[in-house]
Amino acid sequence: MKPFWETKSLAEMTTEEWELLCDGCGKCCLNKLIDDDTEELYYTNVACKLLSAKDCGCMHYQNRFQFVPQCTAITKDNIAELTWLPDSCAYRRIHAGRGLAQWHPLISGDKKLMHRKGISVKGKIVSEIKVRDVEDHIVLWPMLDVE
Ligand code: SF4
Ligand code: SF4
Repeated sequence: MKPFWETKSLAEMTTEEWELLCDGCGKCCLNKLIDDDTEELYYTNVACKLLSAKDCGCMHYQNRFQFVPQCTAITKDNIAELTWLPDSCAYRRIHAGRGLAQWHPLISGDKKLMHRKGISVKGKIVSEIKVRDVEDHIVLWPMLDVE
């Protein structure tokens, strides 16, 4: 029997299935900059104050909006518009008809594999609490998709 991410569209998934899709890379929780002139998007290695450098997860996911009102909830209704999400993001991949990567925890069965393969933000970030000028922290790696 095929797994739900191969048989269901994003719109057909249950809340539980939707949450399972997130690979936990933490890339969407990085500060991003937009060039005023070109509207080009730049990722930085500066992480939201709630992002755990240890496991790359949100430390207050359920009530995160109390602490970070500007956090974006990724939903079935807005996924098509969230073009700033990295190409490796499971939601973007499924939305684009690419399926999940082999390193995704749902396929590999190993939540740490993506850390070992360098897909996640682990070991590469600094908290926004410690950064003075975000513009000094522009990086390219969050946009890379290795598969
Ligand atoms: S970029 Fe996508 S897959 Fe990665 S943590 Fe964010 S929502 Fe989850
Ligand atoms: S509040 Fe949590 S989910 Fe939102 S950007 Fe920060 S770490 Fe990520």
